[in-house]
Amino acid sequence: MNILITGATGFIGRHLVQRLKQDHHTIKVLSRNGARASQMLGVPAFDWDYAKEAVPAAALENTEAIIHLMGENLGKGRWTKKRKQEIYNSRIISTRKLVAAAPDSLTCLVCGSAIGIYPGQGEAVYDETYTMPPQKNFMQTICHDWETEAAQIENKGIRRVSIRTGVVLGHGGMLEKLLPVFKLGLGGPVGHGQQWLPWVHIDDLVSVYIAATLDSRYHGPVNAVSPNPVRYREFATALGKALHRPAFFPMPAFVLRLALGEAADLALNSYHITPTRLLQEYAFQFKFTDLPIALENLFGTD
Ligand code: NDP
Repeated sequence: MNILITGATGFIGRHLVQRLKQDHHTIKVLSRNGARASQMLGVPAFDWDYAKEAVPAAALENTEAIIHLMGENLGKGRWTKKRKQEIYNSRIISTRKLVAAAPDSLTCLVCGSAIGIYPGQGEAVYDETYTMPPQKNFMQTICHDWETEAAQIENKGIRRVSIRTGVVLGHGGMLEKLLPVFKLGLGGPVGHGQQWLPWVHIDDLVSVYIAATLDSRYHGPVNAVSPNPVRYREFATALGKALHRPAFFPMPAFVLRLALGEAADLALNSYHITPTRLLQEYAFQFKFTDLPIALENLFGTD
């Protein structure tokens, strides 16, 4: 398949490109720095400044699928007013421009989204049937608007999937930030540690993206989280075990809030999410359903 990917140089994108290349798909990417992206990934790349220009026509030629991952990193630091605007625009405006530019050859748009679309509080279990209330927090606004923009492509008869991604476990993303602390034996639960953490192994997430691209049954919102979420306390213990380090130093919520401001909610909120549609509609086979095994796979030999 002829696939155009945005955000391909990121944590998820790099793994996805590697697998799609192994499967002999034709890949090209859009990046803020095409030369760097092409060198990093070994595929053709086009420069795109989403804020200033339309999607370059040459990138869209013969494109059958677009996988849209790009977006200002959420975990890079405090959410200042300027960063919040960039977190929003880099996802929503870029999606709008991709939808507007959809070529006739396009059959699907597989777009990033996140479990941040759910309320992030309490014990209730959420799946794709959740209806968003009018009052939304920042993450809910982002995810809602991101999915709404992507869904506009359905008016052109093109299939759309929004991958509501949990916390991705791999060499990158959130774990990359936690790892140095845990390796020093200074890791532990964040806040009270009772919050639910909806994890997914990077290999499974890549498989979800590929299935959503190739399998025409996939449409609409799809939760990409393992069927067995854990509480943060359990996660810290399992990570400590995989790294052969103690993990009982709690990080109080107020310290995290002082350091990260509103961005601390990413770790302090509780998301009890199930992958209902993956399991029940698509019979998706997870490779990793057990957290200790997933962590052992990633870090066991470190
Ligand atoms: P990364 O932050 O690793 O990579 C995102 C890519 O987007 C970058 O490599 C960059 O590509 C591009 N990008 C970054 N900032 C901007 C910007 N301001 N304007 C335009 N492009 C930008 O993200 P991940 O791979 O971790 O995640 C991919 C998507 O999945 C993101 O949208 C993220 O929100 C979502 N997601 C990720 C989760 C995770 O745990 N990792 C969880 C839930 C959702 P380049 O430099 O080539 O332009």
